[in-house]
Amino acid sequence: MIPYGRHDIQLADIEAVVEVLRSDWLTQGPMVPRFEAAVAEYCGVEHAVAVNSATSALHLACLALGLGPGDWLWTSPNTFVASANCARYCGAEVDFVDIDFATGNLSVAALAAKLEAAERARRLPKIIVPVHFAGLACDMAAIAELSARYGFKVIEDASHAIGARYRGQPVGSCRYSDITVFSLHPVKIITTGEGGLALTRDATLAARMRRLRSHGITREPSELSKPDEGAWYYEQIELGYNYRLTDFQAALGLSQLARLDAYVARRRALAERYDRLLTGLPLQLPGRATEAESAWHLYVVRVNDPSCRRGVFETLRAAGIGAQVHYIPVHTQPDYRALGFQWGDYPEAERHYRAAVSLPMYPSLTESEQDRVVAVLREALA
Ligand SMILES: *Cc1c(COP(=O)(O)O)cnc(C)c1O
Repeated sequence: MIPYGRHDIQLADIEAVVEVLRSDWLTQGPMVPRFEAAVAEYCGVEHAVAVNSATSALHLACLALGLGPGDWLWTSPNTFVASANCARYCGAEVDFVDIDFATGNLSVAALAAKLEAAERARRLPKIIVPVHFAGLACDMAAIAELSARYGFKVIEDASHAIGARYRGQPVGSCRYSDITVFSLHPVKIITTGEGGLALTRDATLAARMRRLRSHGITREPSELSKPDEGAWYYEQIELGYNYRLTDFQAALGLSQLARLDAYVARRRALAERYDRLLTGLPLQLPGRATEAESAWHLYVVRVNDPSCRRGVFETLRAAGIGAQVHYIPVHTQPDYRALGFQWGDYPEAERHYRAAVSLPMYPSLTESEQDRVVAVLREALA
């Protein structure tokens, strides 16, 4: 079976993890801040907060930005459910902005129009979560301009995009956002087994997310109501969670980070090779953007004739090729339809969904495996 995505674990990773397993620390210890500092330096950002998943990072980001009941969070329907669920954990409402079919990313034109209407209705969102679909950054400069005009905060869901660049800067620099979130799940670009990161330039937001990741507990003397109680003393000053990353996971992340650029380069080479091999077939190749260099988490083609998508998918699977579909639009999930969303609400995301097929894309995919994928796809489309 050739899967659609696959992690890459090397001897150096195993040794890094084993070294921690032999040490005195298993849960959050010295490796977590080292991993955080290395990611922050890579991205050119002041603070990185490591947690046990991107889902947790999105939740903490929303809490740190003050999202709560009566507030709205808007995101793309062409994403994994976690980009939207984070609002609901905070008791806030979710709404969606349709996508640009060309890239699969949230449409800035649709966002501008929806903001205008929301301003008239006095229902502006508190937070917008642009999702860098497949690793290609959204038009962040335009989103930042709208944020300045309408006063919403921005959390980049960059789960697909560690190692990507936008306008010459690494995604994660937070030049155009308040917080950026990465996922370290095994199908993503680098992994810690399960894990996530929240990056920010704002020291207050970082401190808040660190506190919320560990029960809302502080030992900072300046934050204690009884600072002289004793060295054992701590206070829970708000309701937090246990969202910590373990130290052996951080060691794995640090070891993987050393190969991030090589991974992205390999993914880009595979994407360019797919582009060449698939030219002329009745499908649309992944969108590009002049200002963004994708991390190529996914390679998603859209078949010209959606009625053949299922057949194409099943032919690939029957040939041992683990094609996937990214994404079933979030608003069409039964749990979202129960909130009043319906098929038809976001036509471009639905058009994308009906035509999309994700082809295998991961650094250890060989050219001969890629040739086989292309041959089977060519046959399926014939
Ligand atoms: C994978 C993913 C997440 C969730 O990541 P976890 O680390 O598994 O919690 C969130 N958003 C997007 C777009 C993702 O692809």
